[in-house]
Amino acid sequence: MQGMMMQMPLRIIEILRYASEVHPEGEIVSVRTEGDIHRETYSEAYQRSAQLAHGLKGLGVGDGDRVATLAWNGYRHFELYYAISGMGAVCHTINPRLSAEQMLYIIGHAEDQVLFVDLTFVPILEALADHLPSGLKLVVMTDRAHMPESPLTLLCYEELLDGQPDTYDWPLVDENAASGLCYTSGTTGHPKGALYSHRSTVLHAFMVAIAVPKSLHEGARILPVVPMFHVNSWGLPYAAPLVGASLIMPGPRLDGVSLFDLMEVEQVTASWGVPTVWLGLRGEMAQRDAVPAQLEQLVVGGSAAARDMITFFEDKGIDVCHAWGMTEMSPIGTQAQLSRPMADLPEKTKIDYKCTQGRRVFGVDMKIVDETGARLPHDGTAVGELYVRGNAVISGYFNNEEASNAAMDAEGWFGTGDVASIDDKGFLSLQDRSKDLIKSGGEWISSIDLENMALAHPKVANCAVIAIAHPKWDERPLLVVVPVEVDDPPDLADIHEMMLEHVARWQLPDDMVLTDALPLTATGKVSKLTLRKTFGDHVLPDLAG
Ligand code: AMP
Repeated sequence: MQGMMMQMPLRIIEILRYASEVHPEGEIVSVRTEGDIHRETYSEAYQRSAQLAHGLKGLGVGDGDRVATLAWNGYRHFELYYAISGMGAVCHTINPRLSAEQMLYIIGHAEDQVLFVDLTFVPILEALADHLPSGLKLVVMTDRAHMPESPLTLLCYEELLDGQPDTYDWPLVDENAASGLCYTSGTTGHPKGALYSHRSTVLHAFMVAIAVPKSLHEGARILPVVPMFHVNSWGLPYAAPLVGASLIMPGPRLDGVSLFDLMEVEQVTASWGVPTVWLGLRGEMAQRDAVPAQLEQLVVGGSAAARDMITFFEDKGIDVCHAWGMTEMSPIGTQAQLSRPMADLPEKTKIDYKCTQGRRVFGVDMKIVDETGARLPHDGTAVGELYVRGNAVISGYFNNEEASNAAMDAEGWFGTGDVASIDDKGFLSLQDRSKDLIKSGGEWISSIDLENMALAHPKVANCAVIAIAHPKWDERPLLVVVPVEVDDPPDLADIHEMMLEHVARWQLPDDMVLTDALPLTATGKVSKLTLRKTFGDHVLPDLAG
């Protein structure tokens, strides 16, 4: 028997319409590329999104057309999110840190009609000018006074809105219609597109709001450091207006000093970003011996958060919520907040849990499997490849049958490429990306574990562990270290001693090399691929001579 309830499609624009009515005072504060700070309320954002939708229509954008953005976190980018999806088109966010070749590939693959670009990134387009599709319209996200001189034909964002009506007859799009597109910045092969729908995006906003209430509640002031060009800023541009939290958009200034200052001035209560960013904030907090006054929570994900970093912030009274997810999952899959009964656990045990990737959010199911695809127990010991399914998980890649087939198993679960264990309470512990694990003499060594331990050494500013080919053991770990002081590097024997408290002797890194900085991928993660290329020929001590 069918229920007898109305069928209202879940639509992204409804989030902003709701915020504009129920949380009209919620605001978007943006550090602009023009250099100043801009403020607008959700009501104003809703009206300007309507004006923008009229402007887009004027440019010929229709149902299902892809409209791309190349932009920092800011109010115009926010308006684009809602106007593009709201009118039935697809918002394709492009990561400006991609290589020119990858960027051209995805613009072509997505068949973008219009590309909106922040002032900062106009030079990127100028460099690509000869290779851009001829019909692609370019709009600079600024006003007439700031329009750059350029050999390209550039339209002006504010002129597109000028004089347009501030209401729009938003179409009743099918909730399963595509709304957004984000390519994974895979380090090998071509990027692959995750094509989000209105339904998955709205449900994901609910899932995130329910999962991380300490960040997401009415009156909260959230600073998304995680960029809007990478997996929709982890859903914050949708979840924040939904609950009535304000968004403090940092624009291009993401260093520790700028973030600390912005947090102070704008009374930021929560901030979300990758570990590298929190290293910067941590340095600034240590330097000033101060804590941003209103800051209650940092959400950290994208790469493993080191224990040392978690304890630093927790000791300062800031709650650290470790989260895991993927572009293909919209992206949040798990988060490691402790439930109320866990508050009485010993401090060390609580931090142990906070160091895991946490428990699934509503709408995500997880399983770990062995090489044959057989399920492994969730006992905290068995380690296998992690598969997921859920309301906001991709069912395949956009126009890429081969990659889609490779990613999904026979039961329709998505293979994450991560290797993990899950304990009996449901806490996920990621061991590694399957390609980053080190296989030594048939046994696995987790590079993440070794990195975490090395990071606790006071002379190690940052580090990475990679596999080096070995004739006897197949692979052995090499520790690549950025020292705190170039003239006073850490001693490998000291690091070994610290590690031996946690791992077996055969798991210790065979050697250490020093470097000035670790190479980063387009999404700010350490690029192990680049490190493997750079140090692939490194001769380990037992093989030298
Ligand atoms: P992306 O699609 O670029 O967001 O990358 C997703 C991948 O980042 C995951 O499959 C993991 O390998 C890694 N990742 C994300 N969050 C975490 C985390 N909290 N700890 C360790 N790795 C993570």
